[in-house]
Amino acid sequence: MTGQPARPRVYLDHNATAPLRPEARAAAGAAMDLACNPSSVHAEGRRARALVEEARSRVASLVGAAPAGVVFTSGATEAAAFALTPDLGGDGRRGFGRLLVCATDHAAVLHGHRFQRDAVTVLPVLPDGLLDRDALGDALAAGGPALVAVQAANNETGVIQPVREIAATVRSAGGMLVCDAVQAAGRIDCRDFGADVLLLSGHKLGGLAGAGAAVAATPDVVWGAAMLRGGGQERGRRAGTENVAAIAAFGAAAAASAPGPAVGALRDRFEAALLALAPDAEIFGRGAPRLPNTSAFAVPGVVAERLLMALDLDGVAVSSGSACASGKVAGSHVLDAMKVKTDFTSGAIRVSFGWDSVAADVDRIVHVLGTALHRMRRGRLRAAA
Ligand code: PLP
Repeated sequence: MTGQPARPRVYLDHNATAPLRPEARAAAGAAMDLACNPSSVHAEGRRARALVEEARSRVASLVGAAPAGVVFTSGATEAAAFALTPDLGGDGRRGFGRLLVCATDHAAVLHGHRFQRDAVTVLPVLPDGLLDRDALGDALAAGGPALVAVQAANNETGVIQPVREIAATVRSAGGMLVCDAVQAAGRIDCRDFGADVLLLSGHKLGGLAGAGAAVAATPDVVWGAAMLRGGGQERGRRAGTENVAAIAAFGAAAAASAPGPAVGALRDRFEAALLALAPDAEIFGRGAPRLPNTSAFAVPGVVAERLLMALDLDGVAVSSGSACASGKVAGSHVLDAMKVKTDFTSGAIRVSFGWDSVAADVDRIVHVLGTALHRMRRGRLRAAA
């Protein structure tokens, strides 16, 4: 023991899970103290119901929807499973024989859920990560009305899709658009997307894991059959006693999340420093609009897993490729879809800032990254000698 106090760790992995916001912690604590079933008619039950309804209004207002349009689920994966069904309908439309998904969407959407596998078509993206809208147009024209799912912003690269334009194309072809707004919510304004359904997740906003929502964002959405049936909660759309603490935290996090310029300034500073350290680094999706908090990059010759471990040992938490449930680093279907060369994909690192990030975090990661890259380059030179 040297007696030196341990340096606090720097957490730059908000796209995986954002740290709990104090407002969300307080809201969850209050709900846990209540420990009550919102379906109970006594005063305690009514108080729990009030917390759920307050959260519903807060989540709705984050995305400019009506509170009645919010269906609480256990997270965005369940919200996708609820919304991606052939019997979703609205505005006179009912029943979709096929689902079109974007190749860079999250696995929670790519799965297709209640559509048969052979009814799911994967649409390509351009090298900058933006949906190939010619391919969308061709696919829409090639069959009957389709349900389309395109994410608002990518979890790995931060690339933002032109949701408004995509929604207009889909609607004019008689389809409906489900938009995974998990990473976009609270980071960019999602109130005017024009998508029919939005998918949200509490823990990406600084709430708790265990609450998410499918939100009807246009007044004419008619939900498909419930997956969980029983007690009739969520107006029969999702049975099961509500996770009041997680829902209250979700509402509080939604209310506290306001897109602002501060995070973007940190990310830009980080990228300028990265390019000064490694001018040959590739920043993925740089040519497209991106979330202000996300930077995904690779340095030629540097293996992501090694860099990730070096940063971790020096107290900085970031992500590499897409971490799968086992915690192992898997290849990235997003970078593959963008046709990124394999020498870059094997080095992909994602840095994602958020509500608690400060300038000192940028200084720390730049310092640690500089040291790690220097060591790795020296190692390579020695190996070559
Ligand atoms: N969609 C995107 C873009 C995500 O990043 C994630 C989580 O990583 C999900 C969906 C799944 O969300 P949840 O963890 O709430 O099921």
